Amino acid sequence: MSALRISGGRIHDPANGVDGEVRDLCVEHGRVVADVGPEARQIDARGMVVLPGGVDIHAHIAGPKVTAARKLSPDDRRDDPLERTELLRSGTGGLVPSTFATGYRYSLLGYTTVVEAAAPPLAARHVLSELSDTPMIDKAFLLLMGNNQVIFELIREGDPQRLRDAIGWWLAATGGYGVKLVNPGGVELWRQRNAAVESIDDDVKGFGVTPRQVLEAIGGAVHELGLPHPVHIHANNLGLPGNADTTLATMRTLAGVETHFAHIQFHSYGGQPGGQPRSRAAEILDHLHAHPEVTVDVGQVMFGEAMTMTADGGLSARLRDLTSGKWINHDTEVETGCGIVPYTYAESSYVHSLQWGIGLELFLLAKNPWQVMLSTDHPNGGSFLSYPKLIRLLMDHSFREDQLGRANQRAIRRTALLDGLDREYTLNEIAIITRAAPARRLGLTHKGHLGVGADADVTIYNDLADREEMFATPRYVLKGGELVVEDGELRQVEDGVLLSARAPYDPEVEQVLEPLFGDRYTVAFQHYPVHDPALREPARIVEAGR
Ligand SMILES: [Zn+2]
Repeated sequence: MSALRISGGRIHDPANGVDGEVRDLCVEHGRVVADVGPEARQIDARGMVVLPGGVDIHAHIAGPKVTAARKLSPDDRRDDPLERTELLRSGTGGLVPSTFATGYRYSLLGYTTVVEAAAPPLAARHVLSELSDTPMIDKAFLLLMGNNQVIFELIREGDPQRLRDAIGWWLAATGGYGVKLVNPGGVELWRQRNAAVESIDDDVKGFGVTPRQVLEAIGGAVHELGLPHPVHIHANNLGLPGNADTTLATMRTLAGVETHFAHIQFHSYGGQPGGQPRSRAAEILDHLHAHPEVTVDVGQVMFGEAMTMTADGGLSARLRDLTSGKWINHDTEVETGCGIVPYTYAESSYVHSLQWGIGLELFLLAKNPWQVMLSTDHPNGGSFLSYPKLIRLLMDHSFREDQLGRANQRAIRRTALLDGLDREYTLNEIAIITRAAPARRLGLTHKGHLGVGADADVTIYNDLADREEMFATPRYVLKGGELVVEDGELRQVEDGVLLSARAPYDPEVEQVLEPLFGDRYTVAFQHYPVHDPALREPARIVEAGR
């Protein structure tokens, strides 16, 4: 790979304390370097803004639920075809793009790393196949463990070392990057008796564990193992009025443990079950401000079409009751549920406008942007293609006022958004919530910054007053030092690597797991791990340990 000098751009690299400094940035052999020779190619970036490549810490782009959503929405996809060109594969876009389209469109937005946030370990082959088909970006996936019946047994036995060994084994067996808990214990309860969790001390019938025990055991194990990314939590009772109680109870039981809470907007509601929600964003933020070991991504709702897809099968059943339209609900034996429901967020709706407003409250009232990262929980709150509009909402107070005026006013009056909340995010703060903070939280030391030795994943923007237009159309995108996007068009296709995490484990744990698998899975234990190297390469392994 040839050397390149990006000259005269305004660099925002908050991880290295650089806030708008005008200087050259040099890359060679896929990395940022201190300098390059005079023969290096040059990009004239004078007047432009230079950021690290975007890092999406929570999205849904690969695996059986994503495939199911594609099957459910042929109309949406038919309306957005991608033509084959000499460089590009054909594909379909819409809310749930095909694998190739997903990679292309993230790259066109200046994103270079994306995490698939909810993969059933049993479906790792499927997830890996689709991720290896997804070009342009580096990618990782998180393993669903919060409703796994074998893991419930290990938790009930109460041997923390054995649980740590099992998590290490699961990462090795699948190529996963981290551990995800979705409605811990609650999916199993819903599958058994169509009931929601009332508190994190509910008994998960037949397993002798509670959501609190699952949270503490797995959260503690991930912490002790020192995985590069802490336990990633979709708390119980997503979307239900009054769920802030559950969210805060979950946060308190894990106080002192490194944790990442996903799409926290959906978990910040006051009110009574069955009634109308109200905002409790401020209380959630109070906890964050007192607990630097906690981070969140917002899961912002954007008005318009969305596709809800979740391992939280009970949530999908509730959403389906609201929409009465088509849906899918399917089970992954032993491990998790899955539901897909197409959904529309309407400005006229009290609840949808409140959700939208709570997301903005979380961004705008947060004291420390390193703790509050940008996501729409793609495609649950809206497509990743709406990130530029969301960035404009955060950076442009007058635009936000205009959009506030279109939303349901009864809902907006019940947020803090009309209380003189005129904060405008700076470019450095945007660089934190879309790059530096997610990379740091994922333990990706080569990403999210532009220091010497960093991956040469770089996005260069024209400095436009319309921040939506600016972030929708980067002038240049570099992936691993290669110029892949120029003026809104893909110039070169790169594969990207699979990011996997590895933790040491005692192989004797297989003697424990094999009979438990034999009792429950229809898949033979020896056929469960993904041995096919073609599915797991090219890979970059991140070792556990602090
Ligand atoms: Zn999600």
